[in-house]
Amino acid sequence: MPIATTDPATGRVLKTYEAMSAEQVDRAIERADLAYRQLRGTTIVQRGRWLRTAADLMEAERDEIARIVTTEMGKTYTAAKAEVTKCAAACRFYATKAAEFLADEPADAAAVGATRAYVRYQPIGPVLAVMPWNFPLWQVLRFAAPALMAGNTGLLKHASNVPQTALLLADLFRRAGFPEGAFTTLLVGSDAVDRILSDRRVRAATLTGSEGAGRSIGQIAGRELKKTVLELGGSDPFVVMPSADLDRAAEVATTARCQNNGQSCIAAKRFIVHADVFDAFAERFAANMAALRVGDPMDESTDMGPLASESGRDEVHAQVRDAVDHGATVLCGGELPDVAGWFYPPTVVTDLTPRMRMWDEEVFGPVAGLYRVSSYAEAVEVANGTAFGLGANAWTRDPDEQERFATDLDAGNVFVNGMTTSHPELPFGGVKNSGYGRELSALGMREFCNTKTVWVG
Ligand code: NDP
Repeated sequence: MPIATTDPATGRVLKTYEAMSAEQVDRAIERADLAYRQLRGTTIVQRGRWLRTAADLMEAERDEIARIVTTEMGKTYTAAKAEVTKCAAACRFYATKAAEFLADEPADAAAVGATRAYVRYQPIGPVLAVMPWNFPLWQVLRFAAPALMAGNTGLLKHASNVPQTALLLADLFRRAGFPEGAFTTLLVGSDAVDRILSDRRVRAATLTGSEGAGRSIGQIAGRELKKTVLELGGSDPFVVMPSADLDRAAEVATTARCQNNGQSCIAAKRFIVHADVFDAFAERFAANMAALRVGDPMDESTDMGPLASESGRDEVHAQVRDAVDHGATVLCGGELPDVAGWFYPPTVVTDLTPRMRMWDEEVFGPVAGLYRVSSYAEAVEVANGTAFGLGANAWTRDPDEQERFATDLDAGNVFVNGMTTSHPELPFGGVKNSGYGRELSALGMREFCNTKTVWVG
């Protein structure tokens, strides 16, 4: 994929970039390694000051940053502004909490024959971050904020369609005061990742992206014996049981499916509804979906902008056509609009069967699959019936069912009577083909730390 800004609302290429040469990448890695030696010698208080300055800059420049994000990947300007605000809050969270998360943890010295024993968390060096375009600020910040606070440095290989966002992030950390090389954007294609991760100075990698990219980076990291955190795709279930508040569930279902123009790994994608309330839920949900306003993402009254790429939009439509060809029923949407740009209507499809691609593939666009089930056991079976396990939602007012869903749903995140969202305070990640490792919270920060045991006799 060429490195370029292409406005998804018009399909026009606005700016193209030359990929960095191998020599330029090499120099950047060298700077990241030198910066690591410098950064690990600074105090948490100093790093926190820089990170708070980064938060201040983001807030001061929110509208301009958001405009670039909307132009590059098509999310609404309103959503882009909210993303900037969330990133600034995450920077402040880590600036405040790092001292607690990285504090030495005393162990039972007597039990191990020591006078003192404890665990110390230390940085490990430059970390490669391979990131996607869908939340082009948040995905990066949720790695960068804890990593920099821990004393690691970051090498960002961002998605090829968000180069301006990638460059502004590196510039932001530099202006905030972090040492030269502490956070660097590498303008390279995915073919450069093997060479970068094989470099002895790069100590680990984090990826948010597709299953295919996860397998590829996991293989390289395995060969090189390097730690990875992989946040991959999801096909999250949204289970609605008879006791659920149906109006609320249908309202949240619409947001959970269509946030970020339907392109979120933790979007609810499969709506698994008990037969007792299936028709009532389906009617409300399809009405809400059909009422969303699709159009110019810069217009504040727009609910949904275009999909980020033509190929992504075509793939979503192919999945819908495949379902229809195999007997599915479309309750709303499903037709390609005859306009410029990569728009796709909010779509609800039912009468799904295992022969259809949608049954077990992730649909990365505003398309909801509706499944009818007749018991708790069947709901759990269908919910867990894909290779993914990122997030899961269950809607029920029955306290016993709430507890059972929390245990039985095979996912890294279970949200009951609400939609899956990532919070700096909570660990975030998946199981099965959705990846491994955790981001956010103290756990996310420690993924790229040397958890060092210290024993003093
Ligand atoms: P991709 O995996 O294609 O792209 C994500 C990043 O990985 C990009 O920087 C891309 O670079 C790079 N990349 C792609 N292939 C390789 C490879 N073989 N080796 C090394 N790097 C590679 O994802 P999509 O653009 O398709 O994004 C959507 C996918 O990401 C969905 O499956 C979605 O669920 C998942 N995702 C997961 C999230 C999570 O938090 N778990 C969040 C957001 C998305 P380039 O652009 O140059 O190709």
